[in-house]
Amino acid sequence: MTIEHSIVVGLDDIKTVIFECRQCRTRVSMLPNDIRIPQKCPNENCASREWITGIPANVRSSYEASTAKYVNFVEAIGHIRKSKNDAAFRILLEFDETDSEMPSCEMQS
Ligand SMILES: [Zn+2]
Repeated sequence: MTIEHSIVVGLDDIKTVIFECRQCRTRVSMLPNDIRIPQKCPNENCASREWITGIPANVRSSYEASTAKYVNFVEAIGHIRKSKNDAAFRILLEFDETDSEMPSCEMQS
């Protein structure tokens, strides 16, 4: 018999989003509701290139179709996973470890 364990989490379960520099492994943690990708590695001595370039968030249009954010998010997961290692940073998600909703397993003899 094969036993598999998996963890199912929702976006509300994300405690922090962590950006880790691929060059020096320096990490930056952000709260999920106030998140933006840092422009560059926070380590002053890091030789890493800029993390992200383009239009600053405060200049972008605030218009967004009601479902666009969900479409963008879901599609972005696939694009990011398929284009491994093309960014100067990694994205890590932190969750609180809790087993309050785990089903209990009891063995009977
Ligand atoms: Zn770095």
